[in-house]
Amino acid sequence: MAVTDDQFRNHVSKDGGLTIARDPRTRSRLLKVAAERLALKRADTELADHLSDDVGCQRRGVLKRRAMLARVAAGKPATEEPDAQSVIWFAFGHSLQDTMLGPSSEKPIWSEEHGLWYSPDGMELLKDGDLYEIKSTRMSPLKKADREAGLSVEDVLASNPATQNWWKYIMGVMYLEGSNEYYLGVAWIIPAEFEVFHVQVTREKRNENWADLTERRMLRRGCLDSGTLPGCETRTFQRQCDFCPYLGQEPCATDVPVINVRERVAAKAGSV
Ligand code: SF4
Repeated sequence: MAVTDDQFRNHVSKDGGLTIARDPRTRSRLLKVAAERLALKRADTELADHLSDDVGCQRRGVLKRRAMLARVAAGKPATEEPDAQSVIWFAFGHSLQDTMLGPSSEKPIWSEEHGLWYSPDGMELLKDGDLYEIKSTRMSPLKKADREAGLSVEDVLASNPATQNWWKYIMGVMYLEGSNEYYLGVAWIIPAEFEVFHVQVTREKRNENWADLTERRMLRRGCLDSGTLPGCETRTFQRQCDFCPYLGQEPCATDVPVINVRERVAAKAGSV
């Protein structure tokens, strides 16, 4: 839960020797510079498709792209300046990546054939052709492995709804790079722990994932061309909506509660 304004009040120590005061002006200036740094990181790629667009909610992808095109048509930058929460969110990811793999380890690659960017967090760091992704998770320590269900840490990472997009993206990069292996570094935040997993896929599994991503991309591109919207079903899991800027806007404000109820009923009946 976010801290509200009324919870801030200047502190002065009893002897008057120490004061602590909230400084919104410096905060704004630091956030602005950080937002500019983030914008530089994605300046080359933001108006074209990125592999990560295939992985997330396709409705969100279409709404985001339409908003970008409208801003560009109005002579503005494609993306709005990110809010404080987005800056901090991206800062965690970039800081971890830069620390573990080295600054500027991520190199966006353009696929002419598929008309999209993809960007492994690291490439060829320890040997030719190796690929790396670094993820952080706030997953509770108790849920790293599910002993009651007899699930290992690896089993939980493979089956958790929140990590499904990791695998889709990783297998998508493997397809584009013609590789069948990847190194996934996972940092758990509390307590701070880090593990690396060697991920391997069969050609069939990799192709199956690529076919799914291609279908999603075709749907998204088709909707952009025709002025229609993909369904909410294209989100990967319900909680994606909780952090989506379009949740409070139509048509999601109406559609999402309806689909959530439908999914809950189906889950109770054992069909999902
Ligand atoms: S609110 Fe949910 S369904 Fe709507 S665009 Fe966002 S993630 Fe997709």
